[in-house]
This record gives sequence, C-alpha cells and structure tokens, in this order.
Amino acid sequence: RAKHDGKNAVRTFSAGMGDETAARMDLERDLREALRNGEFVLHYQGQFDVASGALTGYEALVRWQHPVHGMIAPGRFIPVAEDSGLIGPLGDWVLREACRQARAWRADERGLTISVNVSPVQFDTADFAQLVQGALQEAGIRPECLMLELTESTVLRDVSAASEQLQRLRALGVGIALDDFGTGQSALSLLRHIPIDQLKIDRSFLPGPDDTDESAQVFLRLMVMLGQARKLNVVAEGVETAEHQALLREMGCPTAQGFFLSRPLPAQQAQALLPDMNHASPAPVAAPELHM
Ligand code: C2E
Ligand code: MG
Ligand code: MG
Ligand code: MG
Repeated sequence: RAKHDGKNAVRTFSAGMGDETAARMDLERDLREALRNGEFVLHYQGQFDVASGALTGYEALVRWQHPVHGMIAPGRFIPVAEDSGLIGPLGDWVLREACRQARAWRADERGLTISVNVSPVQFDTADFAQLVQGALQEAGIRPECLMLELTESTVLRDVSAASEQLQRLRALGVGIALDDFGTGQSALSLLRHIPIDQLKIDRSFLPGPDDTDESAQVFLRLMVMLGQARKLNVVAEGVETAEHQALLREMGCPTAQGFFLSRPLPAQQAQALLPDMNHASPAPVAAPELHM
C-alpha cells in the first residue's frame, strides 16, 4: 500500500488519481463530517387520496444542508454513502427522525403513514428489522404508521433472502411499498410473489404533454388495475398537472403524490397540510442521537 512507501509515494498516488476519484473522496470525507455535525434534514412530501383530496401521509426525503454548497439532493450523495458504508448511520438517522416526526404529528391518531426510503445496503443488513423496531419504540409510534419504501432492484438481488427480510419487517407491523414500480426488471413476476402493501407507480408512466393518444395511458391503467387486483394501495408518483390528477381519478387510482399536489417541504411547512385537530401537544420526543 502507498502508505508504507513514505510521503512521496502518497503524493504520487494522489496525483495519479483521476479528478473524479479525488472529488469522491472529498465528498466521502464531507459526508462523514456532515453526519457528525447534523447537516442532514428531512423534507416531507404529502400523499393524497385522489377521490377526496384528503392527506393520507408523507414521504420523508433526505437533504444535505451543506454549509458552503447549500441544499444538496439525495441523488448526489446517497450513492456515495452507499459505497462508503455511511448509509448505515445515515439511514438509521433518517428512520429515527421520520419516526420522531410521525409522533410529533400524531400520525397514529390521524391514520397517516410516514414513508421512508430504504437503501438496498440497509435492507441487506441482518439486524435491519431490529433497527426498525428500535426506531418505533424510541418514538413511541405504532408500526402501522411506518411505510418502508424499497425498489424492485433491492428485492431482486436475492428474492428468497428479500422475502425473508420482508416477512420479518411485516411481522413487526410496518408497511412495505414497492417504489418506482415499472422501472426495474421482472416487475410482474415480482408482484405475484412478494409480500407488500403499497405499489408506487413511477412517474415516467404519467403521460407527458406530447402523449395525447390513449396508448400512452395503457401501462398506467394496467398498473393501477394490477395493484388493485392484489389489494395493494396504489400511489401514482410525479403528479404534476391537473390533467394527471383528473386521469388518475377517472382510472380509480386511490392515492397520488407530486408537485401539483405538494412539493417536498421542510417539516414546519409540511405540517400545514395536516387537518386541524384540537388536541394538546404530545409529549416531546428527544431528537435521535447519531450512532456511528
Ligand atoms: P423517490 O423515493 O422515488 O422519491 C421521489 C422523488 O421524486 C423525490 O426526489 C421527489 O422530490 C421527486 N418528485 C416528487 N414529486 C415529483 C413531481 O411531481 N415531479 C418530479 N419531476 N419529481 C417529483 P428527491 O427528493 O430528489 O429524491 C430522489 C431519490 O433519492 C428518491 O426517489 C429516493 O430513491 C432517494 N432518497 C431520498 N431520500 C432518501 C433517504 O432518506 N434514504 C435513501 N436511501 N434514499 C433516499
Ligand atoms: Mg420513495
Ligand atoms: Mg419513487
Ligand atoms: Mg424515484
């Protein structure tokens, strides 16, 4: 290893690295630091009953509030966190923070779900179900409030191992959503066999401005029907227009999420979507500590 060859060798090694590798190492170091400094925040995007317009829950979406670069989207740092092992502590924080917020919003009493995205790396961890149980207990919320979002590829890596993990999680009472449905492989066979509660249709299936003929809607319609045949809660993602909303209503899609309905918002603002309830504030729950 370069280290044993003294300072010069280290310098040569660094100089030989591609800019990309160097930038990635910087990012990794910054991420580690950010976790310690508490620079991550969750934004919450409302999910709505298509027929009544009522709020049914929120999806928690992580952001990095970088002191220099400002708000950074998860697509930029989640892959690096996954490669470096930092997704463990980051994902754990997300889970606990989302549960804490669910408690603060009285999601139990309101019948709302809080959805949390789960990385394949987290899902493959042997003690993941225990972490989830710990987060629920710490926040003092019922498991029904929590929906864990997985993608098809997460499940497809090893279907039988994934099924076991899913059974463990569902035994806790939490819900499982299949996220970005339709973008992965073997979507149909997967749907026949794995135990899930919710199907999130990827936004690429909503018609664009140029998709004027019926054929553009055929897959969307099919997926809504499929989900309902399997008694799953179907959520259409990426609802951006009134036309989308009308189409979903006509198709009988139960739930919708997208910029047209609400953007992902900081907790303070997302809270404004809650229907009024004249109850006293719940007992405060301490913000989660970071376990590294
Ligand atoms: P996702 O789980 O499919 O989340 C939906 C993404 O679509 C979010 O992007 C959201 O802001 C965006 N979106 C919502 N409505 C609309 C719409 O109407 N139009 C368009 N064009 N986009 C819409 P975001 O927040 O950048 O997150 C991207 C992805 O990063 C997520 O996709 C999810 O896979 C991942 N992610 C986010 N938070 C977490 C997290 O806490 N843990 C893990 N492991 N992954 C996360
Ligand atoms: Mg998601
Ligand atoms: Mg999605
Ligand atoms: Mg997505």
